[in-house]
This record gives sequence, structure tokens and C-alpha cells, in this order.
Amino acid sequence: MKITFYGATEDVTGSNFLVTTEHGERFLIDCGMFQGSASEEARNRQDFPYDISQLDFLILTHAHLDHSGRIPKLVKEGFNKPIYTTQATMELVDIMLQDSAQIQYFDIQWENKKRQRAGEELLEPLYDSDDVVAAMELFEPYYYEEMVDLTPHIRMRLRDAGHILGSAIVELWITEHDKTTKVVFSGDLGMHDHLLIRDPSSIEAADLVILESTYGNTVHAKYQDSLDQLMQVIYKTINRGGSVIVPSFAIGRTQELLYEMNKYFEYGGHGQQYPVPIYVDSPMATKATSVFMRHTDLLGEEAQALVRRGDNIFNFPNLTYTGSVDESKALNEMREPKVIISASGMATGGRVRHHLKYNLWDPLSAVIFVGYQAAGTLGRIILDGTTDKVKIAGSWVDIKASVYSMPGFSAHADKPTLLNWLADFETKPKQVVLVHGETREMLPLKDNIEQTFGLDVMIPRYGDELEFLGDETCRSTSILVSAPDLYEVSKMMDEVGRMMGSWEDQPPDLHEMSDEQLSALKSTLAQIKKNMLDLNMITYD
Ligand SMILES: [Zn+2]
Repeated sequence: MKITFYGATEDVTGSNFLVTTEHGERFLIDCGMFQGSASEEARNRQDFPYDISQLDFLILTHAHLDHSGRIPKLVKEGFNKPIYTTQATMELVDIMLQDSAQIQYFDIQWENKKRQRAGEELLEPLYDSDDVVAAMELFEPYYYEEMVDLTPHIRMRLRDAGHILGSAIVELWITEHDKTTKVVFSGDLGMHDHLLIRDPSSIEAADLVILESTYGNTVHAKYQDSLDQLMQVIYKTINRGGSVIVPSFAIGRTQELLYEMNKYFEYGGHGQQYPVPIYVDSPMATKATSVFMRHTDLLGEEAQALVRRGDNIFNFPNLTYTGSVDESKALNEMREPKVIISASGMATGGRVRHHLKYNLWDPLSAVIFVGYQAAGTLGRIILDGTTDKVKIAGSWVDIKASVYSMPGFSAHADKPTLLNWLADFETKPKQVVLVHGETREMLPLKDNIEQTFGLDVMIPRYGDELEFLGDETCRSTSILVSAPDLYEVSKMMDEVGRMMGSWEDQPPDLHEMSDEQLSALKSTLAQIKKNMLDLNMITYD
């Protein structure tokens, strides 16, 4: 059996793994979108690095776009085999992909107007709403804990990953000749102290574990502490006359915030404080909330108990769900202090960008980030605080509002949770493979796993292949299949820049670099040239 890593390698987006067996079965785990900087997003346009017609099925771990976002493109290009996942994921991903198709439609229209004026070639969206409909017809949902024989040699079981509603850890038993190998794909794993959904399941045994590592070197603030801090910041901001903008993932994080706010406002907790007006301005979040209401049997115990008491756990008197674009715009015209929860969570698109445009310049207002901000996104740029203005929807906006990050809300397991999850394996894997993380989180986690459990840990690069041999050893081959030059070059530039201290994570697009950044890059390159000369690596005749 072989696994080839075509996404989420030293990176948190674009999850896409190809598994091939000795019996000739070929299938994918996830088919996610690359997100973040322009060069990351350009990778979505590239051809898939495998023959689509040879695939037998796809298993989807959960609804988030970085795991599901290229499925309609795969279908548009000919994939017509089953997609296995849970019922809740199937319902959520439908909402997610339709929204993605719509965003692309508007983005491409905007981009093409510019291209037309410049006499450049026009772009096509990755897929449209019809492609999403076609993709949804291929879904075959299964229950958690159900043993399913996908082929005579492959058995699958989905377990609750506790990350978002419907999220799954994928257990696979792959039989080749007379030997069965147990492979576990963790998907994205959740935390234990979140009350809306359940905890991630413990897995008993595996030969090989493919583990996410988004927060492999981070210990999250306590969930309850983050909740307290959230309410404090909200009241501090409202009391001084400002508004609070919360960029939030429409699926998962928004429902969690609403669930906690419902408890806060309906069951006391707010003491002398008056109930502040809260708006959810994201049609996708509103739709996703109804999926949560249909699947209350999958929620955590506390949430189920509230539902049994007849509480609508996602609604309270001071909450308004806005629908139309006009209602959304009206929010920015009324100056009364308020809280606006809006998507997208990394401010890469959606209505939240308009709310940021109208509030970021105001020193009385506040922006609260409640989730991971990938390198290169507007959210990350605002959060990093390295610039005092940003360009949003064509205009420059000063960053004067208070900016907060509350990673305690993260739906991703932190370092202790990841290590505990591994500790729970009664039969430890022979090999652990780290995916879905930036190197600064992955490398320390690798050391930790090796030291704590004495397990072999591998960090694959894009296109690397891992062959699991019958004699219980692994062989990995770096073949960098179809690794796009642009990506490789930008990755190298990134590494060099970080080594030289020119930037902390990713270099910005050359065309988008400010004068300071360009001059920093120039001096980095000059320094490299000098070092090479010093080392006699190059000579001038
Ligand atoms: Zn996720």
C-alpha cells in the first residue's frame, strides 16, 4: 500500500492524499482547496497530479473547504465514483460548496473586468453551482462506528473527530494478499473542553497514523477563559461606544459562539450587564445552523440536555440573523454599538470584509479573531500588526480598532491533546506521518512524539510517497511529482527569508510587496550573495 501526499504538506490547506493498494485500488482522502496568498490559491487551478478516471472512490473527513473545496472540480473533470462521509458532513458540505461556487462567480466577474480592460485572457471559475449539484449526487453517507466493506479488501469505519459537526477520523483496514494493514487518517481533530459537540474518539490500534498538526507546538488558552475574555472585550468595546466584529467560520465556530452566548444571555452569567445586540450576518452560517438543529443527536451531552428542555440553543432575544444584502448594509449605517459575527473566518471573502472596512479605522471598535488565520490572509495581516493599513474592497483602511486573538476557541487539537490522542492507542502505530501544519508547529511535535513514544515520525513534502511494506517497515520516496515550479520557488524564498529573518512566515507576492518589504528582500538576497562569495561558492571573473 502506498500513500502519496498531494496537499496539506507543511501547510494547513489543500488536504489531498492518494492511496493505492497492491490490488490496484486507488482512492482519495479529502480533496481540499489551497487557501491563503494568491500563489497558494493559484494552485487550485493546476491539474490534479493523478489520473482521475483510475480512482475508485473518495473519503471525505469533514465539510471545511480546505478538505472539500476541490471536489466539484474533480467531478467536473470526470470523477463519478462514490464519495463516503457522514450524513451531517454531506449536508454541511453542500452549503459550503454552493457558497464557494457563488463566491468564485463574483470574484471571477470582478477579476475578468480588470483583465478585459488590460486585454488579458479571461478566467473561468474552478466550478459552478451545477458542478456542485453533480458532486452532491455522488455522496453516500455512513454512521459513525459503522463497519463498511468498501471493496473485498478495504474496510472503513468513521469515528467522531470532535472538530465540527459530522467530522470524522477515518479508520481503514487494507488487506493485501494475506496481510491486513490498519491505517488511520485523523482528519482535523477537536479539543475536549468544547461543549457543543462531542470529544474526539480514542482509537485503539493502528499500523500507520496520518496526523494533523495545525497546533502541534501550541498549548491553547482554556476554552472557558477565552469565553470570559470574549464577553469582557465585548462589554468593554460596547461601553466605550464601539462595535465588535468577529470574523468567524460559518460552519462550526459560529454555532459554537451562538451556543455559548445563548447560555450566557438566557441562563444568567451576564449579571448587571444589559444584553448587547448581536447580529449573525452570514447566510451560510444561518443555513449551517439549521443542519446542527437537525442533528442534535450528535451534539455534546450538555447541548442535548438543553435541547430536551425545549431550548433553541442557537437563539436568544438580543440575537438577529440578517438575510439580504440590504440588511447587511444597513448594519453599517446604524451607528449603535453592536456585535457582528460574520464570515469568512480568515476575512478572505464574504460580508465580514465590508464590516471590517466600516469598523477597522475606528479606535473605539474591536476585531476579535476566534480561529486560525492562515499565512497570507487578510485576517493574518491584521492580526500580525506589521502594517497600519490594509486594502479592503479597493480602498485603504487604517487599522485603529483594537485587535484580539482568542485561540482558545480553536476547533483544532493543541499539542497536549494531540499527544494524549496518540497516548490512547493501545497498540501504537509503527509510523506517524504529520500533515496539515506549518513547519514551525510540525517540527517540535515530531521531536515530542519521537521522545515521548519512541515512534518513527515523518513529515512529507508535496508529492512524497510513503510505501508501507508487509514487513512492517516504511519506505518513503521524495519524488516531487508535478510539483509546480512557482510553488517550489516561493517555498524556497520563504525558507531563505525566514532563515535571514526577513519575514516571519510567508513572503508576500512580489507584485504586492511594499517598498520596505522589497528592500528587505533585496538586502536578504545581497546577504546571501555575500555569504556565497565568502564561502567561495561563486567567483566573479
Ligand atoms: Zn477543519
